[in-house]
Amino acid sequence: MKEGLSTRCVHAGEPHDAHGSPHAPIYTTTTFKFPSTAALLDVVEGRKAGALYTRYGLNPTIQALEEKLAAIEGAEAALAFASGMAAESALFLTHGLKGIVCLGDAYGGTLELLASQLPQLGIPTHLLLGSELERLPAILKQGVGMVFFETPTNPALELFDIAAVAELAHAHGARVAVDNTFASPVNQNPLALGADFVVHSATKYLGGHSDLTSGALMGSKELVMPVWGWRKNLGQTIAPEIAAQLARSLRTLTVRVERQNETAMKIAKAIQAHPGVERVLYPGLADFPGHDLAKRQMKGYGGMLTIEVKGGRAAATRVADALKLFALAPSLGGVESLVTQPCTTTHHGLTPEERARRGISDAMLRISVGLEDADDLIADLEQALA
Ligand code: PLP
Repeated sequence: MKEGLSTRCVHAGEPHDAHGSPHAPIYTTTTFKFPSTAALLDVVEGRKAGALYTRYGLNPTIQALEEKLAAIEGAEAALAFASGMAAESALFLTHGLKGIVCLGDAYGGTLELLASQLPQLGIPTHLLLGSELERLPAILKQGVGMVFFETPTNPALELFDIAAVAELAHAHGARVAVDNTFASPVNQNPLALGADFVVHSATKYLGGHSDLTSGALMGSKELVMPVWGWRKNLGQTIAPEIAAQLARSLRTLTVRVERQNETAMKIAKAIQAHPGVERVLYPGLADFPGHDLAKRQMKGYGGMLTIEVKGGRAAATRVADALKLFALAPSLGGVESLVTQPCTTTHHGLTPEERARRGISDAMLRISVGLEDADDLIADLEQALA
């Protein structure tokens, strides 16, 4: 891969069309015609790449997006999905049948799928906290198919050592999948560190504007292509209109995320010593427990930070409600800054005891830094904390 990430974001997967469009056009058609049965069979039987039927993903707009998605994670292949959960579920159903270990905290939907839905299909799943990692070798010895984790995690931004987990998992014949949603490909490339798969909720940083829902899976052709059949028959393929919208967003990915990294660092430093703040969790802060690992495996520290407000749950709610620029909303990765109190949204379904076991305090506020001016965001936080 010779070109830099920004160049790949702009130019990868942009076929030159007959009219000279600089970007892949939107093919909204559901089907594609052939000059002969022989030409049709070349595509159906996989001898030639081509368009055939949109739900299969064999649509030029989707194929162009997938080329770009593969390029930005440095992968051989990528599949685009209708949501991040679609990407995860297809991956688990393809490569996790022997069992899946999830390390650390994860998005609530992922945890629900792993803890209560996949076991209904007879798929064994194991949820290990970061503090329970010593149990991983024994579980791997049972012969599970996949180790899955987010790094940084939601909302405590706990980091896992991708290279170390990959080495251990591979020694036991298990695949490794990293949910790279929080970091984005700008800040972290799990495949280069030894992971077999990267999954994204492209709804977040890849989409970047809180106006589309989609997902992505990247990896080697050999491992990604079997997932294609599950996506096809579960009907999880991204729509061409959304594929074009996502490709549009990807062209500005590096510019957005680099600014979000910078602003998040400024906010973390500015409010770290605020008397209303118990602690700030941000991988870029020198006193953050995972800072050394972040320096090793991340290229930037990300646009997500979590603060713990002094005074407990009620005080944190008052701060969230007093913010004016930050919107109270549970998503992340958009151009607008968002705030959410995990005990009211992402971790609302857990008992207070389970939240505490997971190190998630009810006084936490998770912040997704947008593209507003850093000084305005800091001023908003200061007035709300006051
Ligand atoms: N992974 C992470 C880290 C998420 O935060 C989310 C959603 O919030 C998902 C996966 C699921 O993505 P989607 O909502 O696009 O299905």
